[in-house]
Amino acid sequence: MFSATPFNFTKEEQVLFDQLMQDPTSTIRVSEDNRTIFAKRNSDDSLDLTKSHLELPPIWDTHMHLLNYANVKGMVSLHGTKSVEDCIKAGRERLKTFQGEFLLGRGWNQNEFSDQRFPTKADLNQISTEVPIIFTRTCGHVAIANDATMKLLEGNQHPDIDWETGTIIEAGLNELYALIPSPDVPIIKEMLVDAIGDLRYHGISEVHTDDFTALSDRDYEKIIQAYTELDNEGKLKVKVVQQCLLQTKEELVGFLQKGHRMGQGTENFRIGSLKLLLDGSLGARTAYMREDYHDDPGNCGIRIYEDEALQELVDMANKQGMDVIMHAIGDAAIDQAMDTIEKTQKKYPRKNARHGIVHCQITSEDQLDRIAELNIVVYAQPIFWRDDSKILESRVGKEKASTSYNWGGMQERGIEVLAGSDAPVVEFDVKENMKFLK
Ligand SMILES: [Zn+2]
Repeated sequence: MFSATPFNFTKEEQVLFDQLMQDPTSTIRVSEDNRTIFAKRNSDDSLDLTKSHLELPPIWDTHMHLLNYANVKGMVSLHGTKSVEDCIKAGRERLKTFQGEFLLGRGWNQNEFSDQRFPTKADLNQISTEVPIIFTRTCGHVAIANDATMKLLEGNQHPDIDWETGTIIEAGLNELYALIPSPDVPIIKEMLVDAIGDLRYHGISEVHTDDFTALSDRDYEKIIQAYTELDNEGKLKVKVVQQCLLQTKEELVGFLQKGHRMGQGTENFRIGSLKLLLDGSLGARTAYMREDYHDDPGNCGIRIYEDEALQELVDMANKQGMDVIMHAIGDAAIDQAMDTIEKTQKKYPRKNARHGIVHCQITSEDQLDRIAELNIVVYAQPIFWRDDSKILESRVGKEKASTSYNWGGMQERGIEVLAGSDAPVVEFDVKENMKFLK
């Protein structure tokens, strides 16, 4: 586990910190005057500064998706629904005050339903046959559409669209989400201001966020413009570093040709690293493994890039002074990330390079040694342990499980391990995340 002691507390402060962590009425919040305060809450939800409280240094969330968080926040929450009927009820309730073009919902999970069945087109038609509706499963890999939405898809030949049930999966989702109009800059700014309020409410004042694919048109210029304008207007109340997800050579070339470079921006908003995705997730058994999944023989996950294609992207960025951070969860994906970083550093050595691996979950001891040797930064999500501890052993077996999620082992080797929440995958509440820091 994570063995960070992020604060240089005195003995008394440590005692108070531990007490506040235990106290369900306490919270970590960024105050009006930009101090990070850990204190009990009054009944009106304000901070009780009359009792013992702590001031913490500014807290960073080093990997999340802020604009996507804002998107999801505007949707009908289906988390915790216990039946398809609950989903219909939640949709009908929202429809009463609904004004947009698409009624979107997120979070249903048929494993929580007594009949364990997916909702269908017919179910969503009970909410409305006129307003297009899309209800996405909690994992984000499956969505259900009603008739009004399916009508807009008419003529689409994608094999991942099931016309009978309105179920759309995986790559078919791109076709589906492309229907949803992308907000313009003023709306994006409103969404961000609202999300930033939530960040401060939960103790975060600085954030590294991966937003470029959050909108259906994938127009990152609008996103850069929104942040820049907010900063100019004095409305960017947290510091923001953009982790630039540009997945193809064409995208990266286009980005560089427009003159964007890492480090550009202001004190409050900066262009950060190139972000790449090398594999999927442990839950979906798509993280790319050296060996087959313990509970799924014949499957070792998904490798997104051929070595050469990946190297080309990484070299291109590194040559331009841009660090590269790679989403890699399975041990084989982590090998691929390390190979690529090692090669690019030999070809185009940069003294202050801070290439990184995001997630870095399934590891062996020899891999940790190599991460340290290559001076790779690890962007970890300590809070993932809360859910992943339940599936880790069945996915990878006992032995591999025992050397995985080994952030403590990384820190012992001098590897820089940064913590983040990956919100909206999980919540970014600092106090909740901190429970997993030791
Ligand atoms: Zn992420």
